Amino acid sequence: MSEGTSADETVDFLIVGAGIGGHHIGALLANRFGPKGKSVLIVEKSSKRGGRAHFIVRDGYTLAYGIHAIRYGKKSALAQSLREVDKHVEFLEPSGKSYIYNSTTVGKHIKPFVMFPTGVGGFLKSPLMGLRSALSFLVKIKRIKSDRYMDVSLRDYTENQLGWDDERRRKGLGEFLFLCAESMMVCPFEDRVSFGEMIEAFNENLKKKISVTYPKGGWKSIFDGFTEAIEENGGRFLQAECTAVNFSKGRAVSVTLKPPEGDECNITVNEAVIVTVPVQDLRSVLGARAAESVVSVDFLKRCEALKPTAGAVIDVALKSKITDHSGIIFLRRSNSFGQWYSNIEPAMAPEGCLLGTWFKPIPAADANDKSKNEIALDDMWKELIEAYPEIEDNLDFVRRFVAPMCDGAEVNIDQHRNRRPSCEEPIPGTSNVWLCGDSTSGHGAGGEIGHVSVRQLWDKLKNM
Ligand SMILES: Cc1cc2nc3c(=O)[nH]c(=O)nc-3n(C[C@H](O)[C@H](O)[C@H](O)COP(=O)(O)OP(=O)(O)OC[C@H]3O[C@@H](n4cnc5c(N)ncnc54)[C@H](O)[C@@H]3O)c2cc1C
Repeated sequence: MSEGTSADETVDFLIVGAGIGGHHIGALLANRFGPKGKSVLIVEKSSKRGGRAHFIVRDGYTLAYGIHAIRYGKKSALAQSLREVDKHVEFLEPSGKSYIYNSTTVGKHIKPFVMFPTGVGGFLKSPLMGLRSALSFLVKIKRIKSDRYMDVSLRDYTENQLGWDDERRRKGLGEFLFLCAESMMVCPFEDRVSFGEMIEAFNENLKKKISVTYPKGGWKSIFDGFTEAIEENGGRFLQAECTAVNFSKGRAVSVTLKPPEGDECNITVNEAVIVTVPVQDLRSVLGARAAESVVSVDFLKRCEALKPTAGAVIDVALKSKITDHSGIIFLRRSNSFGQWYSNIEPAMAPEGCLLGTWFKPIPAADANDKSKNEIALDDMWKELIEAYPEIEDNLDFVRRFVAPMCDGAEVNIDQHRNRRPSCEEPIPGTSNVWLCGDSTSGHGAGGEIGHVSVRQLWDKLKNM
């Protein structure tokens, strides 16, 4: 991590956290305000930057922490910001289709891989629903006002509000919506995923006509682009933990930082403090004193109670390219999905090799239950090698883990975007401490909430 400041100095914008959110907002701020002589400092408590979007290189394979696909590619919030700071990253779309692997059809002369629709054309032709149902659903969601359905669950909608009598049509649509809740919303819990936010995600997909993409060169390209934009404009990174924000009449005037070695120091802040740490940890960033005396206790409790998404992950590194599948592959029995992502960006694996990642969303409350985790990982693995039997003879290595926080907020009816802490207003009780990240009110689903939240915050900060 580059060093960049000494104790007891002054900065204009102080950003807490050097994950993708900190890099993203840091690049926008440095690009706009650096040339005007204003300074940006990003503090990160860990010795490595990247947060939950970090990656490692193992035996020539680049392993992201989970799949880390980017919704909407060149039309995404990340791509828009990269262009604005004059850094260009290519977003690669899978050349192949997405499929559902359903082992219950094996041996019945039906292909176990059934196409999963990703665009309008595919949706209309999908064997899951049939043309009439698909068309009528498309017309319906175009007309629906998503705001009215924010606290309506998917189950409530399909069982009580859809109004289709035909059981077969309802089942086909239900299957499609379930898989969308799993992959698009990372919330395959039909009794709580917000149908309003699902509609918004559908309409965004239909409008942008791009679903999942992967950055050329992996996430390194995105981090490098933002880092360059920060450093070229005088912005800096510092390894230190923010242990307190110090206020005068509700205005943050300084932060207390604890470097890995040496004494705590105070940095005076002129303009704003931007916290990109998941809101569940807000209290530890503000410090107990400020948290209790400046920010409302109710607000902090709401932040701490926010449920993240969690997931079991299996990375598979193979010595040879056993398939050319590059779209999303759903494993229906284990309720997981994944991608052979080196078939989208070959640079992620050594030449002739193959790298894929599968992911099973699990309830956050189960993430520390070791025996449940092992069952989830074993189920996924068994189905994966059943779908691709060649895996076992070509294995370089497998990495298995459970991430207790994937996205900072599950998009459910109790914490849809109108109920999450705002990324467009300062934290209640303060006039210049802002939040952004995937646990805030950004639009979208999954990690995209974080990227969009940065754009929403940027709209408020850019004219300061
Ligand atoms: C398994 C998995 C799969 C995922 N798949 C996808 C995907 O396919 N697509 C997608 O878009 N997203 C995905 N995500 C989500 C994505 O990783 C997150 O949305 C994103 O990385 C969040 O970035 P952030 O910067 O907002 O927060 P974080 O990455 O959490 O960064 C916060 C940073 O703040 C630092 N910090 C914390 N406290 C302090 C402090 N007091 N002082 C200083 N620094 C501090 C932390 O060390 C961290 O580096 C996935 C996540 C996981 C775990």
